[in-house]
Amino acid sequence: MTDFAQSLRDSVAANFESTVDDLSALVAIPGIAWDAFDAAEVERSANAVAELVRDVGFADVEILRATTPEGTPGAPAIVASRPAPAGQPTVLLYAHHDVQPPGDRKLWLTEPFTAERRETRLFGRGAADDKAGIMAHLAAIRALGDSLNVGVTLFFEGEEEAGSPSFRNFLETYRAKLDADVIVVADSSNWAIGVPALTSSLRGLASLDIELATLDHAVHSGMYGGPIPDAATAMFRLLATLHDEAGNVAIDGLATAPRPELDYDEATFRKDSGLLDGVELIGTGSISERLWAKPAVAVIGLDLPDVAVASNTIRESVKAKISVRLAPGDDPESALEALKKHLIENVPFGARLEFGAEEAGKPWSANLDSPAVQIAHTALSDAFGTESVNIGLGGSIPFIADLLEVFPAAEILVTGVEDPDSRAHSANESLHLPDFQNAIVAEALLLARLGGQD
Ligand SMILES: [Zn+2]
Repeated sequence: MTDFAQSLRDSVAANFESTVDDLSALVAIPGIAWDAFDAAEVERSANAVAELVRDVGFADVEILRATTPEGTPGAPAIVASRPAPAGQPTVLLYAHHDVQPPGDRKLWLTEPFTAERRETRLFGRGAADDKAGIMAHLAAIRALGDSLNVGVTLFFEGEEEAGSPSFRNFLETYRAKLDADVIVVADSSNWAIGVPALTSSLRGLASLDIELATLDHAVHSGMYGGPIPDAATAMFRLLATLHDEAGNVAIDGLATAPRPELDYDEATFRKDSGLLDGVELIGTGSISERLWAKPAVAVIGLDLPDVAVASNTIRESVKAKISVRLAPGDDPESALEALKKHLIENVPFGARLEFGAEEAGKPWSANLDSPAVQIAHTALSDAFGTESVNIGLGGSIPFIADLLEVFPAAEILVTGVEDPDSRAHSANESLHLPDFQNAIVAEALLLARLGGQD
């Protein structure tokens, strides 16, 4: 480490207790942006965060909101900025101040909205997701102090856990304020305790409702059963063609991304997912490859009579909803076409197939060769003393797609303060404090190096 890097580390350490105190004060505010919860707490949360932002030296702190597509007002977000020195980049630092509801109180070992330190962890709702993201940004800026040599815009959203309903409109409304060269999204996880990571790929989504019909009205199964294909059985045969014998997705035309370097330990994966003893994993390739780099298909809805009220009737038609997770590099529109083509070609018994509602979300992958990604990895590796890795997410972070569309030229870095035991969204959410401290050092180093310092 250079003297400058060491001075940042020392500064983060000197302020760390007060950083944890500030985080604890935020945890005490149950700002939940769901309709069923008190919106005044989200306002209180926004005000508290705005105060912390002022404390680290931002003069023009604004609490802003946009409207949702339904025309209702969105939750309050905090925006503040320091202009870039001439010729230097601007970095947008994102996190969200709203939290998930506490869930079943009985499952918590501590009070959800009272931050409590137990050994190396700080427990409480939002202690990790994502109030720690806010504090990591602020503590990194505090550590840099007057030596900050990039422009910084802070954007702390207030409705992420409620699905960010006004996010897209917010970006468009305040585009000029939020525009940046690099966007740091601190809302993900590291790979393990002590092992830092950038989240560098997210799968996309294509889902489709289908209806399969064999009759123009339902009939008695005794009077007509035998020669007539029932719509449910036809549907099962059709759905069964979506996988091959090995359990790989059998839809032609879907993309696959390169195999990730990291892999999951199978025993851990089985335990985390709750897979029953004796049930086989499906598909081929490493587990991380199947989760992050290959498509996956699941039937997530099926309209059939409940067993309790089923009568001896052959149904005329059945509806199903098919969900396809798409590998980074795939395109949701072409994936939907590939899915439709597959279904048309595999309809059994000449049944009538109709397509209904569809949904599409783009996958994302970071440009691993970009300077910002490389600087981020080096900063993480130096701060943690362990090589930083690229991890994928099998799901999506929908707002990343919005950021990409509104700011196509920006480099997006998805970092995180969570670890696999953080239990974001569950009871006993917690933050690993030594990793949190290293994450702050990493972010300070990142900002310094994006500004050409070291
Ligand atoms: Zn989050």
